[in-house]
Amino acid sequence: MIRVDRIIKQFETEGQVQPVLHGIDLHVKRGEFVAIMGPSGSGKSTLLQLLGGLERPSSGEIHLDDVNLSAMNERERTLFRRRNIGFVFQNYQLLPTLTVEENVAFPLYAERASKMETSTRVARLLEVVGLTAQAGMFPAKLSGGQQQRVAIARALSMKPRVVLADEPTGNLDRQRGQEVLQLLSKLHREEGLTIVVVTHDMFAAGFADRIITVQDGRIVQEVSRTEVVRDELMADLVEKLNT
Ligand code: ADP
Ligand code: MG
Repeated sequence: MIRVDRIIKQFETEGQVQPVLHGIDLHVKRGEFVAIMGPSGSGKSTLLQLLGGLERPSSGEIHLDDVNLSAMNERERTLFRRRNIGFVFQNYQLLPTLTVEENVAFPLYAERASKMETSTRVARLLEVVGLTAQAGMFPAKLSGGQQQRVAIARALSMKPRVVLADEPTGNLDRQRGQEVLQLLSKLHREEGLTIVVVTHDMFAAGFADRIITVQDGRIVQEVSRTEVVRDELMADLVEKLNT
């Protein structure tokens, strides 16, 4: 469903050209959970922003299903992004003056969804992420893990084709980080959600169907795992965590 062909990305700052991605090819299937790993500065966030239409490639093409993202203008991309892509960031990016429930409802307001539809959907999403009791609270009153779960609910509000998460556990302690990952993994398994997550965390990568390693703007390794391997790995991790 995501097809990236020969992507090159360079940034120009003050006349200086900085090449960041040097020819990336990547396919993500519907319902797949892909982890992107690699050293800091290797271009992971840039790649994720290209996948989500936040940035445009310098050359190459990005397709989401039958839509050519790289051919859209700024305005078309903004609309497409709002309706089709769920973003989750390291620092949550919640709106501090809105309550939990208003944050989750925000994309639906922006798309002028009906009040009925909005309130039903928001209630269901808060239930999924386990924050029904916090609906009327402001983000500042919540723990980091809870804030990230609000961000995940918000990312899901438009029923996106794909959720893109950039180091979603980067600001969380181990326990909270694992809860966030388990939530993403549950959504992947039970709702068939397509997820691409940038992470440094091997535990996070353990949930993935495929781990892609980026180094210096290139994909240097791709590891797929079968269900069997994953189940064994998860059992092993759970045992280690419980001892
Ligand atoms: P990672 O997420 O793997 O740490 P990034 O994709 O954030 O890496 O950054 C890769 C390189 O691209 C870095 O050298 C960074 O400075 C550069 N870069 C990222 N975004 C921009 C930008 N908007 N303008 C200029 N350079 C950028
Ligand atoms: Mg990054």
